[in-house]
Amino acid sequence: MLHLQKINSSRRVSRATFRVSQSHICRGFATASDPYEVVVIGGGPGGYVAAIKAAQLGLKTACIEKRGALGGTCLNVGCIPSKAMLNNSHMFHQAQHDMERRGIDVSGVSLNLPTMLKAKDDAVNGLTKGVEFLFKQNKVDYIKGAASFVSPTQISVALNDGGETQVETKNVIIATGSEVTPFPGGSIEIDEEQIVSSTGALSLQKVPEKMVVIGGGVIGLELGSVWSRLGAEVTVVEFLSGIGGAGIDEEIAKQFQRTLTKQGLKFKLNTKVLSAEKQDGKVVLKTEAAKGGKEETLDADVVLVSVGRRPYVTGLNLEAIGLEMDNKGRIVIDDQFNTSVKNIKCIGDVTFGPMLAHKAEEEGIAAVEYIKSGHGHVNYHAIPAVVYTHPEVAWVGKTEQELKASGVQYNIGKFNFTANSRAKTNLDTDGFVKIISEKETDRILGVHIMGPNAGEMISEGVLAMEYGASAEDVARTCHAHPTLSEAFKEAAMAAYSRPIHQ
Ligand SMILES: Cc1cc2nc3c(=O)[nH]c(=O)nc-3n(C[C@H](O)[C@H](O)[C@H](O)COP(=O)(O)OP(=O)(O)OC[C@H]3O[C@@H](n4cnc5c(N)ncnc54)[C@H](O)[C@@H]3O)c2cc1C
Repeated sequence: MLHLQKINSSRRVSRATFRVSQSHICRGFATASDPYEVVVIGGGPGGYVAAIKAAQLGLKTACIEKRGALGGTCLNVGCIPSKAMLNNSHMFHQAQHDMERRGIDVSGVSLNLPTMLKAKDDAVNGLTKGVEFLFKQNKVDYIKGAASFVSPTQISVALNDGGETQVETKNVIIATGSEVTPFPGGSIEIDEEQIVSSTGALSLQKVPEKMVVIGGGVIGLELGSVWSRLGAEVTVVEFLSGIGGAGIDEEIAKQFQRTLTKQGLKFKLNTKVLSAEKQDGKVVLKTEAAKGGKEETLDADVVLVSVGRRPYVTGLNLEAIGLEMDNKGRIVIDDQFNTSVKNIKCIGDVTFGPMLAHKAEEEGIAAVEYIKSGHGHVNYHAIPAVVYTHPEVAWVGKTEQELKASGVQYNIGKFNFTANSRAKTNLDTDGFVKIISEKETDRILGVHIMGPNAGEMISEGVLAMEYGASAEDVARTCHAHPTLSEAFKEAAMAAYSRPIHQ
């Protein structure tokens, strides 16, 4: 009896499938009968870029995304909304605290938070729709629903508006990204109002009087900066002895912390959060020294839990295809993005490497090129990272502490923005450029910048490293005057010889 019911219900689904697939699949050049050559699961920066590239290379492609909007974490609740809030909160802060010394008298500056949030939402909507337009332009079929493996070549999609469809494909690229890591032990429950993840912190309806940020990594510092600029008293609690997360140069991290402290952020390093509980409209946190011992209590109106992100594979039914995962929940891949199942590749946050949008994008293109031609390229030694505070912090390649630990001999060239004419003109001189080159060959091994527009300037370091440039190569390259990038050239001069202006 049960068996019969199952068959009947699956028949119902397949009839529904035919009907709904017409409206839920935005078709490109696919016909309903042929299998796809590539199906990408996940429409984030890894997935949507892979899908567009595949279609551009002439492969019949579909992208399955369940969020209801393309662009993934990055466009919807990550890079883009956080940068909108960072940019506009910086302007507000400048209008309040910085304009006067520039000879601009502004009075009556006040915050219109609903409008600032709307500007963020408008940026998000415009960009996610833009990706949908690119799908149409490139003839990628966009299937709106949640994908689940039936077999390595068959994917079932629970469509967002109801019903189900089956998709046949020769190749699959899994790009399902990541999700917020819950607080260890589950002792702090996120409600996205008073105890928030990064997602809730992007949409607070009121500036909290006091905010505690658990975790002094990139996301915690960016969102802590936003609410501090808008008027909150922000305390960052970090288990480690420094801020900025993995990959930051320790010298930069120290100066960065000093600068953020001057801006009003408070830091409690070497401190472990034990619990956070809602009490009488507040959140009360218990902390202790990381090494154990001294306990303290903090209170806040809003707590941001920002202790990292973890790979996301929920609902994919990976058991059905026996895909190998590691003990951190990442999908295991080889250096050509192949998973343990022959026709399935994997890219982005859900597998190894830094959880960054541009890293996912590079992998998306390379994975498709491997499918099409058997060749692809991602240089993991030249993936930049940026913290979009003010000043910004950006880096690529090795840190000084890594080189010390590995016994590599190196030179360091540093140049302070206080000696850069453009930074001085702009009254924006916090920070420096630090270039690390191999002692024997002068080849650039790492670039670390704290300063205005560091996130733009780091591209020069990435390009230099991608092409195996020496510090002298960069130092002998003409840089326009007056620009902040002259500090980059001078740091390169300092690494192989001497700077002129310092
Ligand atoms: C607050 C914040 C700020 C950030 N800022 C930056 C930044 O400035 N720069 C930067 O480089 N990175 C930043 N990141 C990280 C960046 O967002 C991620 O590294 C990036 O989005 C990863 O891309 P992805 O394609 O691997 O996955 P994601 O962007 O996470 O996309 C995966 C998509 O897959 C979909 N999906 C999952 N499972 C299924 C399924 N079964 N069926 C269908 N669809 C599915 C999800 O809905 C999601 O849309 C930030 C992240 C956060 C949270």
